[in-house]
Amino acid sequence: MGKVLAVTNQKGGVGKTTTSINLAASLGLLNRRVLLLDLDPQGNATMGSGVDKSRMQHTACDWLLDETPAADVIVKTETHDVLPANSDLTAAEIELVRVPHAEQRLRDRLQSVRGSYDYILIDCPPSLNMLTINALVAADAVVIPVQCEYFALEGLSSLLETIEGVRARANPGLCIEGILRTMYDPRTGLTRDVSRQLITHFGARVYRTVIPRNVRLAEAPSHGLPVVLYDRGSRGSAAYEAFAQELIRRCEGGDEA
Ligand code: ATP
Ligand code: MG
Repeated sequence: MGKVLAVTNQKGGVGKTTTSINLAASLGLLNRRVLLLDLDPQGNATMGSGVDKSRMQHTACDWLLDETPAADVIVKTETHDVLPANSDLTAAEIELVRVPHAEQRLRDRLQSVRGSYDYILIDCPPSLNMLTINALVAADAVVIPVQCEYFALEGLSSLLETIEGVRARANPGLCIEGILRTMYDPRTGLTRDVSRQLITHFGARVYRTVIPRNVRLAEAPSHGLPVVLYDRGSRGSAAYEAFAQELIRRCEGGDEA
């Protein structure tokens, strides 16, 4: 059964999508079967995986709300599969509220898909809306990308409260897989301070791997490629490959990679 990981943080621009795409691709290169589920109407994970969000016959919206089978929606890429999204998903967010057991919808829809993958990564939108709640209800664990800057911790507390709430009423097994420091610049005092505070709060839940600020990571999506295919020699690529290995060690045990 595939492990479902929600990549989430309601703060915008912290590296959720960059992490989703590059973790998916790096796990794929390590021979894991990976589905990247785009749950953000911005469709950035879709486009960044090289799938044109404007030319899809079916997207996550149809799959979630109608009975459109996953097989009719999922697109294969060189490294991972993508369940694409576009702005139609905004409508789904509104419609979902009317569906019975709205919070459980994604979990139910994933049932038939889980057996085909080792990892299902969900790229969440930058809000704590019904889509994000659906991701938290469906997930085994959350991966939280954090940019080590001022206010980073403030946003985290409301995310942690939301996770607590979902645990209490819908998904008692939900855990924090880990906190990933993104756009990390060890030369700045603030990065080091926030990093220290994260370790104080979350201890071993903070991944050892840090993702540096690297221009190749920012460029790769405009070519529709994960960084491992765009520039494997870059620091960004090395960081996400190391992160995938660390995640595999945590999730699967042993030194698998
Ligand atoms: P949103 O909240 O809008 O969904 P997000 O949390 O998904 O944003 P990204 O889209 O991954 O964040 O990243 C925000 C911007 O920062 C993008 O332009 C991305 O290319 C850039 N970026 C992300 N990580 C890095 C990095 N490590 N080095 C350089 N640029 C980065
Ligand atoms: Mg995003």
